[in-house]
Amino acid sequence: PLPDSAADAQVRADDRAHVFHSWSAQALIDPLPIAAGEGSTFWDYRGNAYLDFSSQLVNLNLGHQHPDLVAAIQQQAGRLATIQPSIANDVRGELARRIAEVAPGDLDKVFFTNGGADANEYAVRMARAVTGRRKVLSMYRSYHGGTATAISLTGDPRRWANEPSDGSVAHFLGPYPFRSSFHADSPEQETERALAHLEQVITLEGASTIAAIILETIVGTNGVLVPPPGYLQGVRELCDRYGIVYIADEVMVGFGRVGEWFAVNRFGVVPDLITFAKGVNSGYVPLGGVVISQRIASHFDTVAFQGGLTYSGHPLACAAGVATFEVFERDGILERVRDLGSRVVEPRLRAMAAAHPSVGEVRGLGLFWAIELVKDAATREPLVPFNASGADAAPMGAVAAACKQAGLWPFIHFNRMHVAPPLIITEAELHRGLDIIDEALTVADGYVAV
Ligand code: PLP
Repeated sequence: PLPDSAADAQVRADDRAHVFHSWSAQALIDPLPIAAGEGSTFWDYRGNAYLDFSSQLVNLNLGHQHPDLVAAIQQQAGRLATIQPSIANDVRGELARRIAEVAPGDLDKVFFTNGGADANEYAVRMARAVTGRRKVLSMYRSYHGGTATAISLTGDPRRWANEPSDGSVAHFLGPYPFRSSFHADSPEQETERALAHLEQVITLEGASTIAAIILETIVGTNGVLVPPPGYLQGVRELCDRYGIVYIADEVMVGFGRVGEWFAVNRFGVVPDLITFAKGVNSGYVPLGGVVISQRIASHFDTVAFQGGLTYSGHPLACAAGVATFEVFERDGILERVRDLGSRVVEPRLRAMAAAHPSVGEVRGLGLFWAIELVKDAATREPLVPFNASGADAAPMGAVAAACKQAGLWPFIHFNRMHVAPPLIITEAELHRGLDIIDEALTVADGYVAV
């Protein structure tokens, strides 16, 4: 698009005057007006292009304006733009079937929601109905959404301002080998000790009071924390031993982000419920849901499920979901994510870790990676403190500014930069983005203690 300073000013003025933004002090933000997007790139009204290395909020798995998704939505809009949820609908049914076909084990029914937070709300509601118990365990360093139950499950500072919750959630520490809470010095030891800790929390909270354990299969915004070998199997065993429902939150990692339909497939575990959103249709129309095992679903064969949404299984959203399956299969998206992740991203990030004193660790899978920045390699002191804001966050702000200046839109959270580009990114674009990050890391190096 050509630069358009009048449009730029108008969009900015309307936004500043009337749009109330998420998670922000309204007077302290300056949202960038965006004119257009295509593939892995979007443009502002001043003629600047940004390579989108955060896939918006890690939802834009098939990139901006994918022609198949746009056409599917247009065709569906021309045919039947909406229909209420108690009706049987072709695209809703087809999408549920296709999800069931790629879900692990006996998970074969889908309850559709409007996004990720309400998917978690309803998963917890199902677990409570089935077990007759109320408490839920979730991890510190997690995000499960902004609505009432989902924010109380969340294990990051976004929960603090929304407390007190109803007291039905207890948090536990998950594995994080780079900053082990368990003084472990190998991934195996981290697994063993993190599971012992979880079992202790179950015992102390009272197994008979716990309906569900919810965890992100790979912790997303809170660090791209890939579980060490055996951890998820151990969680599955604990849930079986104590009659607890295992909910896998795959809102961020599902639908190809790590080269699998569902990330649990990579680890060979079968949860009782999987929640999804984002990548199911790249967020072209809001959609989320819960994939339900036969055991949980059968509880509701003769007992009514007490929950619902006017837009559950919205046809426009489901049409974009069906198109997503078609594109993934036709274009071999899962295979290309695995290939680009292991052949391009991983070696390049490992080289950056070796070259830049500010890089404490790089970790990830597929097209989902974190670069964790430190002030001091020996102590691993984070480059900015946990939950840093204002002046404390300035070093990460400087790294982000260097990326944007060079034409890359980064994902930054606390002392980490994540690499999460659209799954359709070309190899050349991927290298260009990684070149920009490599250069921006020299800014971070400037803050390292010598
Ligand atoms: N769960 C995870 C792991 C997420 O990353 C998110 C959003 O970032 C959510 C849940 C909430 O999803 P939504 O914003 O669609 O409600």
